[in-house]
Amino acid sequence: MSTVEFRTACQFALGVPLEILNGVTHCFALHRIDMYGHHFTTSACGSRPRGRVRTGNWRTHRHDMIRDEIAHIANQCGISVEFERHSLPGLAPTTRCDLVLLQFPTRNQHTVIDVVIKSSFGQDGELKVPGDAPPGARAAKGEADKFPIYEGLIHPYSAFTPASIEEFGRRGPALDKLLDALAVRRTCQILNVDTTQQNPDDAHPLFDRTKRPLLDHWRRNISFVLAKENVACFMHGVNNARNGQFQCDDQAQAEATESVHHVDLNYETSRMNF
Ligand SMILES: [Zn+2]
Repeated sequence: MSTVEFRTACQFALGVPLEILNGVTHCFALHRIDMYGHHFTTSACGSRPRGRVRTGNWRTHRHDMIRDEIAHIANQCGISVEFERHSLPGLAPTTRCDLVLLQFPTRNQHTVIDVVIKSSFGQDGELKVPGDAPPGARAAKGEADKFPIYEGLIHPYSAFTPASIEEFGRRGPALDKLLDALAVRRTCQILNVDTTQQNPDDAHPLFDRTKRPLLDHWRRNISFVLAKENVACFMHGVNNARNGQFQCDDQAQAEATESVHHVDLNYETSRMNF
């Protein structure tokens, strides 16, 4: 991240007004915006499924980068994945999931994943959760909303995981459970432990000491991608608003992808030595 991006990420995390929004009062579509940037991460204004990258499309990009990060983690466990699969058995042909982990959790079952990023704020910047809501309430809501859509799934696609994550990084229980199961899989591979063991924890003295940092590392990667992509939503939203035109080239999108995956995460990965 550049210095400005990092400052913006910190300001967003702290819930203070974003400096880059100084002097910006409306988005490109002339909606009035809040000083915390919530409009740019919660509104799909100007969003279109394909083509030009307008303000709202950066939200879609953020969603896709989280999907890709989960796929990347699954690949590290030797799991093959399918992206954007439609015509899933038991569902309407038009229902398209984000990701399928093939032959996971078992050899004859596949895990269908739908990613959702939940905000606690509305597009006018107003808080959408009651003050006494427990932490993670929005992530849990994101999960709960997804289950009915996929309840018709039939074997072998019958394992469904909603990957729900709040804008400030809190993951829903189902995503945490999935990451834990993947970490068990990967740790078994690293330590050469039989994955069919009832309790792999007992199978090797270094099991927990290997699994825990791996899981922390994956969680941090997901948080990092999210923080970086939140900032991309603000930066591009501001550019669009200031210039009165849209960031419309694929190159801007390619650069954002590049900067997440090829610089910062590679550095983080090499530092952690996985
Ligand atoms: Zn707008």
